Amino acid sequence: MQPHKLLLCLLFVLVAATQTSAQNKQAKQAKTDWNAPFPPHKVIGNVYFVGSAELATFLITTPEGHILINSDFESTVPVIRASVEKLGFKMTDIKILLGSHAHGDHMEGDALMKELTGARVMAMEQDVPLLRKMTPGNKPHPIDRILKDGDQVALGGTTLVAHLTAGHTPGCTTWTLKADENGKPYNVLIVCSVGINPGYVLVNNKDYPQIADDYARSFRLLRTLPVDVFLGAHGSFYGLQAKYAQLGKGGANPFIDPAGFKAYLDDKEKAFTTELAAQKAKQ
Ligand SMILES: [Zn+2]
Repeated sequence: MQPHKLLLCLLFVLVAATQTSAQNKQAKQAKTDWNAPFPPHKVIGNVYFVGSAELATFLITTPEGHILINSDFESTVPVIRASVEKLGFKMTDIKILLGSHAHGDHMEGDALMKELTGARVMAMEQDVPLLRKMTPGNKPHPIDRILKDGDQVALGGTTLVAHLTAGHTPGCTTWTLKADENGKPYNVLIVCSVGINPGYVLVNNKDYPQIADDYARSFRLLRTLPVDVFLGAHGSFYGLQAKYAQLGKGGANPFIDPAGFKAYLDDKEKAFTTELAAQKAKQ
């Protein structure tokens, strides 16, 4: 090889290596920022936000103990704990731990959360194989009750319904409940996710053959559910930052946003349809 070509080669390797390390750094940074604390607050009725800047965790309080949805990353658990305690609630009063879906940013902390609370961990049947593989620090993933589509989780007068909204994961679970505020009942919906992550295979997916049909079914189902208060597994799904900024400024509760839910679905369904068509065209 001629010396200047060798130099060019070396330079290329160096640039590539720098880029990868920059990307890794970026990914790590994003993860850290996702764990940044966010002010815990009441959403509506007995529903409270106790998550981080990006990872949405909800505490549903009842006279017989509390329900927590999403333990997030294991590294998010201390952030959640601080938020629960800041609101004046006790970790040991959390009796049930639920989740949105079997990805690390929503359910990796289940084992640690169970250690801290003693809560019963419940998960949708179709996500169990993925959860079994989620073992931070070699801790086995706890599962005390396996849920099926439409199952109810009841505690102290509050009933949540587990809706299978598969696609993002095979057991992706959207939670609904009714919350009362000023004597009025509101339909609360915590959407799992109908987003397509980079690299998702929608056509001829050997590990998940029915993925595209599942997404399509989930969009159809989600459009039939009554929604007043729109929440989701990530704060960015439902505009947490902007809505939180509106709190306490008078006017209606900013989390009551059925139009926002419809816009979220329209946006994600368009992305799904576009990606599916592109992948089919490449077959
Ligand atoms: Zn996910």
